[in-house]
Amino acid sequence: MQKKSDNKNRIVFFDFDNTITLSDVFDDIVERFSGDDGWKDLEERWKRSEIGSRECLKGQVEGIRVTKRVLDRYLTTIKLDPYFKKLAGLLDSKNIRTIILSDNFDYILNGVLKAHGLDKTFEVYCNSIKFEGNRMVPSFPFSNYKCGNCGHCKKTVLGKIASAGEVLFYIGDGLSDRCASRQVDTVFAKADLKDYLKKEGVRHIPFEELKDVYEHFKEAT
Ligand SMILES: [Mg+2]
Repeated sequence: MQKKSDNKNRIVFFDFDNTITLSDVFDDIVERFSGDDGWKDLEERWKRSEIGSRECLKGQVEGIRVTKRVLDRYLTTIKLDPYFKKLAGLLDSKNIRTIILSDNFDYILNGVLKAHGLDKTFEVYCNSIKFEGNRMVPSFPFSNYKCGNCGHCKKTVLGKIASAGEVLFYIGDGLSDRCASRQVDTVFAKADLKDYLKKEGVRHIPFEELKDVYEHFKEAT
């Protein structure tokens, strides 16, 4: 007989870009809608570790020139991993709490989820933007100003949400997932996050698509 973990609360934390979505939505928006090439310079400085992600994100958002209407239309074209909805439904049926932690921005993320009929379905923690004409003003309500490596410090937010005794899962792919993914019981990792955890000797379950994660939870009690 399998040992049941039903008596413990479980939480699954999802990254958004390139985990729930099939592409990095923010990077694509920057490439498509930047008013000039300033974003490339920021990207280079970030790669050379001269600036952290938050400063890079802030500068890149401020360089975008797009109206709400054009952005809204673009957001409806973003594809989700084909198994995300199924996985979210499965987790819900097992009373597992699902939370999205993203270093993207609320308007973008909500627009994508809405296009797939998933707005107001999940607890979401991310950065924020306000529109001023065809410009966006970013803010970082979940930043760790002592570190600044990420816009959104997922590790801090995860630490505030989770209580002792809860069983925690993390699903992610990138740089902003590194610290948070080391705080949980089980990590599903792909791409850069997978390589990083492997190098650091941190136990993780590699995945290529959310179908792999779905199969795991389907088998689990
Ligand atoms: Mg990601």
